[in-house]
Amino acid sequence: MRVIAVANQKGGVGKTATVLNLGAALAEVGERIVLVDLDPQTNLTATAGVDEVELSTHELLLSDEVELRDVLLTTAWENLGLLPSEPSLAAAEVQLATAEHRQDRLADSLAGLAEGTIVLIDTPPSLGFLTINALTAADEVLIPVQAAYLAMHGLRQLLATIQRVRDHVNADLRILGLLLTMYDARTRHSKQVRERLAEHFGDQVFKTIIPRTVAFDYATVAAQPLVHFRRTSPAAEAYRQLAKEVLKRG
Ligand code: ADP
Ligand code: MG
Repeated sequence: MRVIAVANQKGGVGKTATVLNLGAALAEVGERIVLVDLDPQTNLTATAGVDEVELSTHELLLSDEVELRDVLLTTAWENLGLLPSEPSLAAAEVQLATAEHRQDRLADSLAGLAEGTIVLIDTPPSLGFLTINALTAADEVLIPVQAAYLAMHGLRQLLATIQRVRDHVNADLRILGLLLTMYDARTRHSKQVRERLAEHFGDQVFKTIIPRTVAFDYATVAAQPLVHFRRTSPAAEAYRQLAKEVLKRG
């Protein structure tokens, strides 16, 4: 099993799009994938085409009676499973603050997944207990960075949080890579962020860059991964390329 948390406390940088489309691209080449929606905003659950949720990651984290198999849903796509979220998950942030083993809840829940599964965890735009649970459960963290002004702002805080998780609960957590998203070759900002990322993080930056495309809006409305909704879109191709890189780095 390989557990990858997709994290950045900045909102709107492409975390959810990356979890869904990287997951779809990996599933397409035969990997067994489980997506985990750990964001109370439920964007991943909605864009994965699921609208009826009985039990969610909220119960999975906080109820002793609920097990992984009670929460795990299939999607319309082969090899692509989902642990959905619900708005009530927002309460978990507070509930976890006083719970026992509050950081290990997700790690414990995922222990029952089949050998060989790749788990992709979508996290909320904060560094609270939900994100800490994701980083504690993860072997690797993938950091999407939006190709925009001020994108690198806050990365230091995220890296410090990753280091704290390493120091206290998950010594083996490693950075899988930084992913440049919403790249627009026509803007100077995009190029600047690309250069700065390369300067600071070198080989940790994925070779694959995700271009900005409005097709994402249409895929979202259709509640499908772009990888399936518009197969030949450059961004869909990019996520397939990213899947290859992720398998190579594994
Ligand atoms: P986050 O999960 O980090 O908040 P999202 O993945 O939800 O970010 O992306 C924010 C918005 O930008 C969403 O409406 C999404 O559909 C859109 N989006 C994501 N990636 C791209 C892209 N490469 N090009 C254009 N729009 C994108
Ligand atoms: Mg999101």
